[in-house]
Amino acid sequence: MSENLHQRAQQLFSQSLVEGLSSADQAWLEAHLRECAACVREVASTRELLHAFRSVPVSVPRDLAARTQMRVRLRAQESAQASASSALLWVITGASWLLGVLSAPLVWRGFAWVGSQLNVPKPVLELGFVLWWAVPALIAVAGVLHQRAVNSGTAGKG
Ligand SMILES: [Zn+2]
Repeated sequence: MSENLHQRAQQLFSQSLVEGLSSADQAWLEAHLRECAACVREVASTRELLHAFRSVPVSVPRDLAARTQMRVRLRAQESAQASASSALLWVITGASWLLGVLSAPLVWRGFAWVGSQLNVPKPVLELGFVLWWAVPALIAVAGVLHQRAVNSGTAGKG
């Protein structure tokens, strides 16, 4: 059997699903399907597919989608509060680190000048320098502790 006949059969079958066939085409298709197992299988699998699509209950996915949406929204609200405070901490930590790195050479020059003017021993200068550099980090730690206290306070109130 020629390939064109099978193609025509599939085309007619698709057409029959969408807009219907003329009686001549319908008769031709039926005659072909009686003789051609390959096209029958093709038609059957297409019908099964269409049936599967149609038999999916629409209300279940809609309901599921709504419930999922609500759950996602609730989760987002919950984590928004938690992530806002942790984002703030990251900003503070990052800013303090950046500030420390950027200001370090300047601060060290200042410490060296003060040390040379006041004749301060180098270990004391270095300690002061380390402390200066640690101040932003200490502020960040204070911020963390403060944030935790605020969070536990609101959690206690419910
Ligand atoms: Zn065929």
